[in-house]
Amino acid sequence: MAPLIDPYLRPITYLRLSVTDRCDFRCTYCMTEHMQFLPKADLLTLEELDRLSSAFIDLGVKKLRITGGEPLVRKGIMTYFRAMSRHLASGALNELTLTTNGSQLAKFATELADCGVRRINVSLDTLDSAKFKQITRWGRLSQVLEGISAAKAAGMRVKINTVALKGFNEGELFGLLEWCAAEGHDLTFIEVMPMGDMEETYRLGQFWSLTDLRTRLAAQFTLVDLPERTGGPARYVRLEQTGQKIGFITPLSHNFCESCNRVRLTCTGELYMCLGQEDRADLRSVLRGSADDAQVTAAIRAAIALKPKGHDFDYSRQKVAGQMSRHMSHTGG
Ligand code: SAM
Ligand code: SF4
Repeated sequence: MAPLIDPYLRPITYLRLSVTDRCDFRCTYCMTEHMQFLPKADLLTLEELDRLSSAFIDLGVKKLRITGGEPLVRKGIMTYFRAMSRHLASGALNELTLTTNGSQLAKFATELADCGVRRINVSLDTLDSAKFKQITRWGRLSQVLEGISAAKAAGMRVKINTVALKGFNEGELFGLLEWCAAEGHDLTFIEVMPMGDMEETYRLGQFWSLTDLRTRLAAQFTLVDLPERTGGPARYVRLEQTGQKIGFITPLSHNFCESCNRVRLTCTGELYMCLGQEDRADLRSVLRGSADDAQVTAAIRAAIALKPKGHDFDYSRQKVAGQMSRHMSHTGG
């Protein structure tokens, strides 16, 4: 089958799939405390998730990242991981992975590794248990650290994703770095994005530019830019003194949309061609309307033909521009 190429000639080889909008945490920058979740009947079933993921893989998607909400709270999710491992075994898929808050990893790490998951991203913004509670509202740091240890013990490589938050984790930059070095985890920092209907002053107040974070790092270490590209917004450096690899995801201070290779599917089957735009296609109705997979692949192709050039996130005029009213947990971070 001809590969998926968007109007800006970017090959689409990476699907991020949200399997639920629910979560056992309520991170303050991601959700409100009393989120209204979708009715369960709106969600794609595990069989539908399989059918749709397999259609993308037939169209040349090589990397599949499962996300949410918290993907590991979706009931029966291991059945889906097990099913997707057949695409790894056949060589159609290069990587099956997930982004998780880590709370359920102690339970699922061994099974995930057994399904062929080799690397996972765990979100962790602080190593202080009181601050962890403050930022996640409902989370427990010790549970997440146990989960991370279980993932490591199961042989999976762990990348820690840390949202840079002004006045919250600025003082932990070097502590997080040291902990990751000691544990053998990679570390990537992320700029906070205007997703969800949060107040402008709140968003601007919490924004810590990675340009500043990088300057602070460079005062202590020699940063060597790495050529590595994943077709996404991340850029990497190596700290010459320790050899540690650090990633920066900078949608606000620098966008790298020109090399974007990804699309995002929500748990209700809406395909978002860009995290920071409203353009979307309803694949659930196509899926439910016909058993013919040719119709599904045609709908995917039609959607990719509408992929926008990039997002419009911008805080540079002391105003939030490009805000999306939907929460990150809806589109899948
Ligand atoms: N629950 C899982 C987790 O936390 O890893 C997966 C879903 S979560 C929405 C995915 C990622 O998005 C997490 O790393 C989280 O920190 C990040 N995130 C959520 N809201 C964000 C925002 N407004 N700006 C930047 N990153 C955000
Ligand atoms: Fe849940 Fe992840 Fe959002 Fe935190 S960032 S509330 S863990 S979905």
